[in-house]
Amino acid sequence: MTDRTPSERADACVVGSGPAGALVAHRLASDGYDVVVLEAGPRFSRDSREERMERAVRPVDGDPDVWDVGGERDAYRSTGRRFYPLNAARVKGVGGTTLHWQGMVMRYHEADFERTTPDGATWPIDYADLRPYYAEAEAALGVAGASDNPFAPPREEPYPLPPFEPSYSDSLFAEACERLGVVTHSVPNARNSEGYDGRSACVGYGTCQPVCPSGAKYDASVHVRKAENEGARVVDRAPVQRLETDGDGRVETAVYATPDGAEHRQTARQFVLACGGVETPRLLLLSQSSDHPDGLANSSGAVGRYFMDHCYAGADGRLDEETRQNHVGFITTECHQFYDDPGRATQGTDGSVPRSDADLSPIKLEFLNYAGPSPVEMALSGEEWGDDLRDTLEAAYGDHVGMGGLVGQTPRPENRVTLDTSTTDDHGNPVPDVQWSLDARTRRSIERANEIQTRVLTEMGARAVSTVGPDETGPAYHHMGTTRMGEDPEKSVVDARLRTHDVANLSIASSSVFVTSGALNPTLTIAALALKTADHVRADL
Ligand SMILES: Cc1cc2nc3c(=O)[nH]c(=O)nc-3n(C[C@H](O)[C@H](O)[C@H](O)COP(=O)(O)OP(=O)(O)OC[C@H]3O[C@@H](n4cnc5c(N)ncnc54)[C@H](O)[C@@H]3O)c2cc1C
Ligand code: SF4
Repeated sequence: MTDRTPSERADACVVGSGPAGALVAHRLASDGYDVVVLEAGPRFSRDSREERMERAVRPVDGDPDVWDVGGERDAYRSTGRRFYPLNAARVKGVGGTTLHWQGMVMRYHEADFERTTPDGATWPIDYADLRPYYAEAEAALGVAGASDNPFAPPREEPYPLPPFEPSYSDSLFAEACERLGVVTHSVPNARNSEGYDGRSACVGYGTCQPVCPSGAKYDASVHVRKAENEGARVVDRAPVQRLETDGDGRVETAVYATPDGAEHRQTARQFVLACGGVETPRLLLLSQSSDHPDGLANSSGAVGRYFMDHCYAGADGRLDEETRQNHVGFITTECHQFYDDPGRATQGTDGSVPRSDADLSPIKLEFLNYAGPSPVEMALSGEEWGDDLRDTLEAAYGDHVGMGGLVGQTPRPENRVTLDTSTTDDHGNPVPDVQWSLDARTRRSIERANEIQTRVLTEMGARAVSTVGPDETGPAYHHMGTTRMGEDPEKSVVDARLRTHDVANLSIASSSVFVTSGALNPTLTIAALALKTADHVRADL
């Protein structure tokens, strides 16, 4: 039987075992410290991955939610102007949301750390501070990539793994983009292009999101295992209910629940919160007490505020030729040309993208490896059989091309995570309420992304081009901003050492510390910041 009682002695207690928590735990355990990780969700057996993949590709077999998210345990509210589908955006389990993620990993640009929020807040660190940690994070995750992105920040070291080959449709895009002066380059991917770190090369199941059965896609269970091999203790199904402080304002205890209905108290010298961008502020708010009436580490009132996600912009159309591919499961080509300067014009060999003078957020463009709607889902949801069905599938599949894109959001105080006391989880705690909305700048930036995407598709000769614009957009499931970093304790929650201003032995490893969102997938930056957090915690131990 799993022992879920507290460790007698712990130097560090890490809450959450996604990439942030797993990397912190591994680094501290490797240095010989006693580390306990408390993880709310279960430990999913590796052997179950093939069956989970089948569940994902054959929705008829039952619930397509392969990581068992939902129900009372994961209850939430969304009362903002736009619905936020929180349970599609996270996984609670050993390995966290990387069990489900796509695995695109790029460094934030230098400009990301220079951006200022509307209320004048800035990042207290710059790219140079994170640069060595980015290199370590790339080695830890095993990133396959090429140094072919002229817009990327400076790097000296090559990627640990060679890049994946561009797909056939990438070559169709590349020709049109060259004519328009739109630059294409490879995507750094946290999946093995060859054997790495004891895991096999990608074998092309194409089901990376929501499950990679082969283990070629990195997920944080890799660093959970490594941390355990170094002596860390990882307790699953142990959701932390609240943190309690001593009379001196230091965290003394993490109170956690176990499946037998018991509540336990884990003491430690240092605590690191790594519960993701929604549960981290929630836990701080749940840790409200007479000494901390507005929640822990919340003297600024910023806990839960400035919630951001990246917004999706997309366009797709059909060619008069085959795109000659199946969905290979991941994206191999993208474009950062409109990132630092989203309004820029281009001039190619045979055309251009016109300039936009509007004030815009950063835009990242993606060239999707997509040939058409899933034949399985069409067959299962349609009414046709036999030859009719075959004709429909043949007509619908094989000639589609699609572009995606991420657009950054402005941090605004009204976009926030609060506690909803009208609904409780399976332990009687108020659930998180995610209040999310789009501002005018974000809407304009999505329209700008659509304009560039349509220009590219039209140049390719695509017909029936349709877009996913500001009215249809959805989140990319990157939760940021809810415990932001800063030098000013009145405006921010953690300092440049990722330690909370208010509580000396409490640090946060999460994209919740991001001050601005950028428009790049956040997890490499989360990993780099987690390694930095671990170094600072180590210095305090
Ligand atoms: C569909 C999808 C695709 C994505 N694709 C990409 C991508 O291509 N590139 C990219 O960079 N990012 C991507 N992401 C985002 C990425 O998964 C997250 O940025 C990353 O997992 C965050 O890491 P984390 O450790 O901060 O949090 P998480 O991975 O969410 O882990 C947090 C952990 O904390 C646990 N926890 C929460 N509350 C408690 C508590 N009270 N007590 C104990 N444990 C608790 C949770 O159970 C969870 O296991 C994607 C996400 C989704 C959903
Ligand atoms: S395509 Fe590669 S990374 Fe994706 S699920 Fe298959 S083996 Fe895993």
